[in-house]
Amino acid sequence: MLLDGKVALVTGASRGIGRAIAEDLAANGARVAVNYHSNAEAATVVIAAIEASGGTAIAIQADVSRYDEANRLIVETIKQFGHIDILVNNAGTTRDTLLMMMNEDQWDTVLDTNLKSVFNCCKAVVRPMVRRKQGGRIINITSVVGLMGQGGQTNYAASKAGIIGFTKSLAKEIGSRNITVNAIAPGFFPTDLTATLDDEMMKGIIDFTPLGRMGTPEEVAYMVTFLASDRAAFITGETIRIDGGLAM
Ligand code: NAP
Repeated sequence: MLLDGKVALVTGASRGIGRAIAEDLAANGARVAVNYHSNAEAATVVIAAIEASGGTAIAIQADVSRYDEANRLIVETIKQFGHIDILVNNAGTTRDTLLMMMNEDQWDTVLDTNLKSVFNCCKAVVRPMVRRKQGGRIINITSVVGLMGQGGQTNYAASKAGIIGFTKSLAKEIGSRNITVNAIAPGFFPTDLTATLDDEMMKGIIDFTPLGRMGTPEEVAYMVTFLASDRAAFITGETIRIDGGLAM
């Protein structure tokens, strides 16, 4: 299989896009650490689904917005599986409101969960990856909102645009170690994150999407698996949109 012998860690893999990513990596032969924040029950369901399909996975609780917890997550994954080949920074959240209404906590929560978490997990994983001398893959989930902007999401857009700059910079730093760093920018997908959008807004987004529909979490997962594989060995610093053409 494409990822036989590989170990992957997916942050925020108890639900939505992260769950689909964890399941597809496992279906392609990787042993997967499924990180979650507070939803232990959902993480257990993901582990059971992976095991039922013949894969190997463990669940690890950690708040990746916190430096010490992200470090513990990396240490625990290496302790359980021996090393990490693939890190997928997927955990994310929203606190949508107009800037004039936005409070400091709404700004900090989104920046810490979406952007600082990427720093936290990369910081903890890069040294062991470099020391192992087997290369590696880091895949960061950004958003088309980081490319286009979106009213009511200054915090979210800033966090996701930050991920794109971070991805390019780290790709330049560790390319010589055969570690690739790429980002995926999803458009709109039906998950808990977008469940609060009203029907009119959803219709507007779909009308603006050339392919005329939302994506499925699996459609992001397939790209993650490709970027994680040897087939993507010469791709780094890239941001790939999976958005049905929305941000074209
Ligand atoms: P979701 O359904 O709301 O799931 C969020 C996941 O992140 C959950 O597993 C949650 O864990 C985890 N999480 C949240 N805060 C965390 C923290 N501090 N530490 C560890 N895990 C944490 O979201 P989604 O729609 O699948 O989104 C996944 C990623 O795709 C996010 O980065 C999001 O910004 C991005 N994205 C989504 C869309 C979309 O349309 N859905 C579009 C573009 C980009 P618990 O279950 O334990 O709470």
